[in-house]
Amino acid sequence: MPVLVQKFGGTSVADAERIRRAAARVVEARERGFGVAVVVSAMGHTTDELISLAESVSPMPDRRELDMVMATGEQVSAGLLAMALCDLGCPATSLTGGQAGIRTDGVPMRGRITRIDTGRLERLLSRNEVPVVAGFQGLSEDGEITTLGRGGSDTTAVALAAALRVAETGGCCEIYTDVDGVYTADPRLVRTACKLPRISYEEMLELATLGAGVMHARAVLFGEKFGVPIHVRHSQKPDAGTMIARESQAMEELAVVGCALKDDLGRVTIRQIRNCIGLQGTLFTALAHANIVVDDIMQTEQGSSTMIAFTVEHADLGDAKQIVARTLTELGDGEMSVEVGLAKVSAVGVGMKVHAGVASRMFRALGEAGIPIHNITTSEIKISCIIEKVHGPTALEVVHRAFGLGLGSNATIAMQTDEAQG
Ligand code: ADP
Ligand code: ASP
Ligand code: MG
Repeated sequence: MPVLVQKFGGTSVADAERIRRAAARVVEARERGFGVAVVVSAMGHTTDELISLAESVSPMPDRRELDMVMATGEQVSAGLLAMALCDLGCPATSLTGGQAGIRTDGVPMRGRITRIDTGRLERLLSRNEVPVVAGFQGLSEDGEITTLGRGGSDTTAVALAAALRVAETGGCCEIYTDVDGVYTADPRLVRTACKLPRISYEEMLELATLGAGVMHARAVLFGEKFGVPIHVRHSQKPDAGTMIARESQAMEELAVVGCALKDDLGRVTIRQIRNCIGLQGTLFTALAHANIVVDDIMQTEQGSSTMIAFTVEHADLGDAKQIVARTLTELGDGEMSVEVGLAKVSAVGVGMKVHAGVASRMFRALGEAGIPIHNITTSEIKISCIIEKVHGPTALEVVHRAFGLGLGSNATIAMQTDEAQG
């Protein structure tokens, strides 16, 4: 029997009515002959509310305890959706991440899935029941509840789809959300953004990492690694949506398929430090040990000393600051300063590998809009510019326009042709 993993995001289970509609969607898929495993997010803004509640009790909540509090959000949704399914005559059992066999590395609030024991899920599916799994959480080998980072229910869903080998059964992982697919830019920020019928894992991974919140980046990584087709769809009007799949020849026809904005960056700068051998290793190992993901790194020589700067998400800035300060004290060298209010605008496309002039077009567009560029980073399939946060939305819009990604442009037409060819 083909198996689907259906994931319902926060808005898709925000109230009783929507939970019943999500249940109806599951029943519909079963009537089409699919076995279905479900993954749910917390209802609406529950996770934000739980964090605020925790902070009202303790301004800097202990991470382990915060995980304990946050994990309840998804458990509520799982129980409610299982009830709604039972009411429709569909046998269903809600499971916490741990009960579903999801094991993590135990890092609080940033846990990574290390393995999945699918025994219980497979038993339920073979009895024609629907497991309803609480997303965003797992259990460490020591039995600690760990959450997977904000937006992590997508990762639960794709990881379960990989472990259940849904692609081999002819199924896929469906991500039901509040937008009808992946767009050329966040449609809330760029009104002319267009829906993409298909996007490669590689491009989606870059876009997600660079700020396109529609998918959790690690979910895309799992999808790519285990070849899980991911179908992003609107939960209320699920038409064609967007397929995230392997790169195809047609995808290379466009230099840029999408743009993204990350507007929560801060920068740590270290000046007046001797560039002794091993300096960078010492600094960045200390940050890595604290599981801090460093974004762009810049280094320039200034006479006999060096300047090293790096960006991190605001959420990590406090920890990064402490770690760098401690490391500089141990080294007895260097001065640190910290800036907030930075953003990063990026253009992404596998076609960049074969098209010239992409970077210059982006820089010109930002220049013509009067937006100063603070730093540039590139990879084979992306170009990113660090800018001030106040310029973020305009920068996204002008870069999007510069690559002709708006409604009615050639880019759109090319992608629609791609869809028509299947
Ligand atoms: P869910 O709660 O279902 O996981 P999210 O809020 O995490 O939903 O993700 C959906 C949101 O992602 C959309 O409402 C949209 O504003 C945002 N988004 C950002 N970039 C993109 C993009 N390129 N395409 C589509 N949506 C995007
Ligand atoms: N509820 C969690 C969050 O808001 C996880 C998710 O929705 O994917 O981040
Ligand atoms: Mg999400």
